[in-house]
Amino acid sequence: MENKHYEIIVIGGGPAAITLAKEVKGTAEVAVIRPEEHSMIYCAMPYAIEGILAPENTLKADRLVTETGAVLIRDSVLAADFEAKTVSTVSGAVYSWDRLVIATGADPILPPIPGSSLDGVMTFKWEKDMYRISGLIEQGISNAVVVGAGAIGVELAQALAARKLTTSLVDMAGSVLPNLADPEMTGPALEALRNLGIRVELERKVEQVLPNREAEGRAGAVLLDNGQVAAADLVVFAVGMKPAVSMFADSGLELERDGIVIDDHMRTNLEDVYAIGDCTSFFSGITGDRTGGKLATNAVPMARVLAANLKGGDRRYGGFINGSATKAGEFFIGGSGLKEDEARRHVDVITGYAEFSVIFPIMPDAGKVRLKLIADRSSGKIVGGQLISSRPVTDKVDQISMAIQYGITAEELLNFSYSSQPWQSFYPAHNLLVKAAEELMKKMAPQAEAGMEAAVEAAAGELR
Ligand SMILES: Cc1cc2nc3c(=O)[nH]c(=O)nc-3n(C[C@H](O)[C@H](O)[C@H](O)COP(=O)(O)OP(=O)(O)OC[C@H]3O[C@@H](n4cnc5c(N)ncnc54)[C@H](O)[C@@H]3O)c2cc1C
Repeated sequence: MENKHYEIIVIGGGPAAITLAKEVKGTAEVAVIRPEEHSMIYCAMPYAIEGILAPENTLKADRLVTETGAVLIRDSVLAADFEAKTVSTVSGAVYSWDRLVIATGADPILPPIPGSSLDGVMTFKWEKDMYRISGLIEQGISNAVVVGAGAIGVELAQALAARKLTTSLVDMAGSVLPNLADPEMTGPALEALRNLGIRVELERKVEQVLPNREAEGRAGAVLLDNGQVAAADLVVFAVGMKPAVSMFADSGLELERDGIVIDDHMRTNLEDVYAIGDCTSFFSGITGDRTGGKLATNAVPMARVLAANLKGGDRRYGGFINGSATKAGEFFIGGSGLKEDEARRHVDVITGYAEFSVIFPIMPDAGKVRLKLIADRSSGKIVGGQLISSRPVTDKVDQISMAIQYGITAEELLNFSYSSQPWQSFYPAHNLLVKAAEELMKKMAPQAEAGMEAAVEAAAGELR
């Protein structure tokens, strides 16, 4: 039985763990413990299923960790003893540490509905899931149902449809990508998915997976809550993630629904124990409320903050802004911050829209981009924004995130200094953010005018 000591032990092999190893490189003796054969570029998996990428291209090389000087241990942690400062593993090894970093991520949720244990019913995260789905397609299955029309479900449904499977996409919400953008922004994406031949069933629940009458133990169809049946040799649930923290139940580590409770330095309630990435519960950088933030683009910055602090720094993490994006048919869709209904729970909401061509409209193939900004009427601060475009949107999503993160107001956006070029933007005459900000300002104006009228009335009263 192995019993080694490391200054820092990191549990996990995802982006949080890899970034941490890279950033502390050379400053401490580090071991990274992860069970799976390969770390993955999860975001690329739908495109490997679609056949755009070779599946091997979604695998990350171990040297990302080993080149940092960290020891990579292929094993699974069973338990941590926070008093003795050790972790024990499935293979029977015990490793001791000075500081422990938990980066165990999150596991996809498989709802316990009747039929969910049938063969062909699965979730989608790991390398084995990618090969399982590709294998079933190669065996010649013809029907698939994807449950959950978030970014992962939408991307996977498109991949399956591209592989000529009759594909249904089911969601309880009334619109696709409900966590990314508001319904009026995603309408074209819904239409694009339907144009790809995907049967999109909204405001519907999958109640049961029905067995295949010709192949015992295998899935054959799903039953929806309106009584409809959709044929399904493959049923993939993409309905959300739960933190992978069960090994820490009753261990003294403070846990919450979304994961391990940490402060803005990535410290847990236990000394020398830290947590980063999808396994943590943290706050919105906008409202200060606990909020979901299970994105690689949150896990990596959290790891950078922690690495700086482990090296003696004093950096803090400001909270989730949750900028993200996807693609549906010919549309790129992205969003950041609060959606309109979320924002309404916190502020008096105003919205501003802008729509331009993505390049000079006189240039060939000038598609459209539409932006929605959401702001707080009283302060003018931007609290959310969304885009749908014929061109990639992540740079613009990041501009919105920056506006939210640094408390920029609609009035300040009026002076936003932008660039323009015939192949890359609308004319110099206008800019999306500025245009939407102008609309926001008009909606703020009635209040300002009302304030002005009240002041005039009060002054007149004094004179009378
Ligand atoms: C299909 C798909 C597409 C996605 N697309 C995007 C995207 O476009 N943009 C984006 O920002 N995010 C995307 N995400 C989310 C993103 O992948 C996650 O937010 C990110 O991987 C979280 O990183 P992490 O390191 O915290 O956890 P994970 O990547 O989940 O890694 C957790 C690691 O911990 C290991 N582990 C768990 N338990 C143990 C144990 N007991 N012992 C040892 N090791 C353990 C796991 O095996 C794994 O290696 C996508 C996710 C999926 C599944």
